Amino acid sequence: MILISSPESKHYLKRRESLAASTFTAKMAFPHLMSTMELSSSPPKNFVDRSTLDPLHSKTLIRHTFSLKWAFKKSASFKAAFEHAIQSKNKDAMHILLEAQTSLPPGPCDFAFSFDIDGVLHNSPNPLPHASETLKFLKEKNIPFIFLTNSGGKSESTRVKMLEEEFDVDLDVSQFVQSHTPALDYVPQHQDNCVLVIGGVGDSCRKVAEGYGFNSVITSADIITAYPKYWPFDEIARQYYSSFARPLPAPIDPTNPDSLKFSAIFVFSSSRDWGLDCQLIEDLLVSREGILGTQSRKNGDASFENNGWQQDGQPSLIFCNPDVHWSTAWKHSPRFSQGAMIAALHGIWNIRTRGKAALQFTQLGKPCYGSFLYGEKVLNKYREKLFGRGAPKLRNVYHIGDSPVSDIRGANEYQSPFGSNWLSLLVETGIHRTGTNPEYQPTATLAHVKDAVNFALREEGWEEMP
Ligand SMILES: [Mg+2]
Repeated sequence: MILISSPESKHYLKRRESLAASTFTAKMAFPHLMSTMELSSSPPKNFVDRSTLDPLHSKTLIRHTFSLKWAFKKSASFKAAFEHAIQSKNKDAMHILLEAQTSLPPGPCDFAFSFDIDGVLHNSPNPLPHASETLKFLKEKNIPFIFLTNSGGKSESTRVKMLEEEFDVDLDVSQFVQSHTPALDYVPQHQDNCVLVIGGVGDSCRKVAEGYGFNSVITSADIITAYPKYWPFDEIARQYYSSFARPLPAPIDPTNPDSLKFSAIFVFSSSRDWGLDCQLIEDLLVSREGILGTQSRKNGDASFENNGWQQDGQPSLIFCNPDVHWSTAWKHSPRFSQGAMIAALHGIWNIRTRGKAALQFTQLGKPCYGSFLYGEKVLNKYREKLFGRGAPKLRNVYHIGDSPVSDIRGANEYQSPFGSNWLSLLVETGIHRTGTNPEYQPTATLAHVKDAVNFALREEGWEEMP
């Protein structure tokens, strides 16, 4: 502003119109400048698209191209380039840098957001205050964000449609990572074998798994409907199960070489029937090669690793959400989530193996490293979609969550292999309660999602949400 009102800037103001055209081009080229500063001895690629220019402006543009190139030659940032221009009294460089910074929409940013959903944007099914305006603001400013949630049970596209309606904002399915989204990585290994998928309402999780590419997905309902004696306590749920069960692809008959056999068990969402589902998981973990109805002779044999338990080709066990509790519309205290059933299964396994064997399984979902890694890969792809390949390298990611144990711990412990820095922002609208001391310390604690985003925008030197 000082420069614009100074006598030196009068000349600049007179030719503001032509300058604005060249500045626009310069601004579009800014990310390329940032990413090619080391190569500043030659003009950055894509810096000038001469075909789009009015010939009348070309002379000014060429001059400003050299000014910008000069300004960035020894500068590591926009701010440093500007200071360099001031110290060297290079008016052309000062003018064009100032104009690019203050008069035009901001270019691709080198920071991004990762949002937990439950307890941050809504307490299911009720949206939280400020959630809609915050997402709209980020969309309007073209600031990239993803959703990294431990929830699941529906396809990513279904979930995105629900969020779009809830928050009145256009979203992209590629922004969305649920607890079971990383299960996509398991498709090549298991796509042609039978997999047991547990959790969710009806057979919604079966449909999710089939959408991922698993070709033979079986649910607890299929088994209990085909073999009612499998589980003696079915009086409450019998009708429910039969409403969506499908015929089994093979009988449960260990004497038959084609007997029903599983290669993996995925717990995609919270089980609605812990007793039945824990029974099924235990049966498969003690089986021979995943054949339901068998028991491995290796079980309890100390000559094998883990005292022989889970050493005989049993199916892989993959849980997708370690959270024991989650924030719901029940305002008095959080409710059980998938992690509570995992804890119960640990207890059952301990009794079954007489404390002689660890329960071997893979855990997906926050705070696990794999989920944040998957999230960052998704974020990088989404940034490329928004900004193209010339975008500045991702520097800071602000993960906003309500759970100290999954969100804050996960973001704090995550070491990005891509060189970005993850910061953790804890909000007080979900599991964490105001005035209590969180088990894992966040970068900052904020009242709600809008405050958290404004905290990050301040840190980045960007204008805050009004
Ligand atoms: Mg949450």
